[in-house]
Amino acid sequence: MEILKNYTNGGWESSREIQTTDVINPANQEVIGKVPYGPKTAIDLDMAVESAHKAFQGWSQEPVMKRVQPLYKLKSLLEANLEDLAKTITMECGKTLAESRGELQRAIENVEVACGMPVMMQSEFSENIASGIDEFMIRQPLGVCGCIAPFNFPGMIPFWFLPYAIAAGNTFIIKPSEKVPLTMMKVFKLIDQLDLPDGVVSLVHGGKDTVDAMLDHLDIKAISFVGSTNVAKYVYARGTANGKRVQAQGGAKNPIVVLPDADIEMSTKIITDSTYGCAGQRCLAASTIVTVADDRGIIKESLYESAKNRTTGYGLDETIEMGPVITTESKERISGLIEKGLGEGGKLLLDGRNVKISGFENGNFIRPTIIEDLPLDGELVKTEIFGPVMSLIQLDTIDRALQFVNSGAYGNMACIFTSSGANARKFRSLANAGNIGINIGVAAPMAQFPFSGWKESFFGDLHGQGRHAVEFFTQTKVVVERWPKEWSRKF
Ligand code: NAD
Repeated sequence: MEILKNYTNGGWESSREIQTTDVINPANQEVIGKVPYGPKTAIDLDMAVESAHKAFQGWSQEPVMKRVQPLYKLKSLLEANLEDLAKTITMECGKTLAESRGELQRAIENVEVACGMPVMMQSEFSENIASGIDEFMIRQPLGVCGCIAPFNFPGMIPFWFLPYAIAAGNTFIIKPSEKVPLTMMKVFKLIDQLDLPDGVVSLVHGGKDTVDAMLDHLDIKAISFVGSTNVAKYVYARGTANGKRVQAQGGAKNPIVVLPDADIEMSTKIITDSTYGCAGQRCLAASTIVTVADDRGIIKESLYESAKNRTTGYGLDETIEMGPVITTESKERISGLIEKGLGEGGKLLLDGRNVKISGFENGNFIRPTIIEDLPLDGELVKTEIFGPVMSLIQLDTIDRALQFVNSGAYGNMACIFTSSGANARKFRSLANAGNIGINIGVAAPMAQFPFSGWKESFFGDLHGQGRHAVEFFTQTKVVVERWPKEWSRKF
C-alpha cells in the first residue's frame, strides 16, 4: 500500500519519513492507508513552511476580492464531491453517512462565510480626530498559520480555520489526525484544482513530531489546535512560549438539564441524538443528563426506551443510527470507565458492552449505555468518556442542577430542556459554558458565530469560525495621518 503523500509547494510529495502508522477502518479493522509517522516528518514540515513563507509574500499582497475567488470554486467542488468525501469520513472515522454529510455541510458553510472577507476585513476610519488629522485601523495577515486537527471531524474542523486564514491573506498548513488523514487527502485533491499560488495551502502528515516542529518553527505565526485537553494545554504553552498566537480547543463533558416541564417526546429524541450521535465522539456530545424532580422516572424511562432501540453497525449501511468508536484502545478505555463507574456505585440501566455486529465482529462497537446512581464527584461523572455512554443524575431543583453544571472542569456546552422561559433565561445566564443549548442537544454554532468554549475546553482568546476567525488571522495596524490644510494646492 502506498504511503500517503504530503501536499506542499503546490504539489504532491513523498515524506522524508519511511516509518508509518496504519489508518484503520474502525468497523472492520481493515488497513485503509499508511501515514508517515516519525521524526523525519519534522523535515517535511520545515519544507512546507519554507514554501508557505515564500508564498505569503505574494498572496498577502493580492486584493482580498481576488483571494476569496478560489473559495467560491472550493465550495462548488466540495458540494460536487460531497458523497465521495462522506464515504471516506465514514470509512476512516466510523460515523454514519448522514453524520458525515452533516459535517461536510458545516465545512461548506465556513467557506461561504469566509467569502465575506472583503467586508469583514474592512478598515475603521475616524476623520479629524484633531484638526487635519485622521486615524484608521487596517487588518493585515499574520504569515504562515498552522492547524492541528483531531480525529472526530476529519472533514469539518480544518474548515473552522482554513477559509478565513487564506481569505485574510495568510498561508496555511494542515496536519490532520494520523488516525483519519484520508479525508483531507481527498480535500487536497480538490484544493489542487483551485487557482491558488503554490505554497498557499499545504498538508503535512505525522503525529507529535510534526506538531512539535510546528510549535517551534519561527516562521509559523499562529496555531489553531483542536483535540484533547492535555494536548491542548501543551500546544498552547509551547506555542505561546515561542511567540505564536494560539487558539487551542480541548475536551469536554457536556451536561444536559431536563426540567419536569420539558416536552418529553422532543427532549428524548434530541438528547438521545446528542448522546449517541457520532457514537458519543463529539466535543458537543451530551454526557451527563441531569433530570430535575423526575420523581416518577418518566424522563428516565423515555430515554431508556429511545437508547435501547438505537441501531448500531457499519456507517456505510444507511439504515443504522450509530457506528463504532475510533480504535480498539478507545473501546477498551470506554469499557474501563464504565467498569469504574460501577465500582463507584453506579448501576447499569442499559449495558452496551460485549456487542457483536454480524459481519463486523472485529469492529469497535459499543451500543448505547446508560448508568445511573453515580456519585456526583465520581470519576465517571467528571471524566470525558468520548463514547456512547449516558450518566443519569437526579437532582431536586434547578439551582442544584446549575451548581452541578458549574462544578465540572470543562466548559464546552451546557443545555437545558424546559418550557419555562424564565428558567431557560436563568440557565443561559448562569451556566459556565461557551455554548448553551435551550431545547437544543448539540449547540454547535453556525459558521458566522465563534465556536466557543470555556474553562478546560479552551485555551486562548479568539475561537474558530466567524468574526473571531477574522480577528485571529489578522493583526491590526493603526495609522494616524496629518495633512495640514495649508498644504493643499490649487490646480
Ligand atoms: P488528540 O489530542 O489525541 O489529538 C489531536 C491532535 O494532536 C492530533 O493531530 C494528534 O496527532 C496530535 N497529538 C496527539 N498527542 C500529541 C502529543 N502528545 N503531542 C503533540 N501532538 C499530539 O485528540 P483526538 O483524540 O484526536 O480528538 C478527540 C479530542 O478532541 C476529544 O477530547 C474532544 O473533546 C476534542 N475535541 C474538541 C473540540 C472542541 O471544539 N473543543 C472539537 C473536536 C474534538
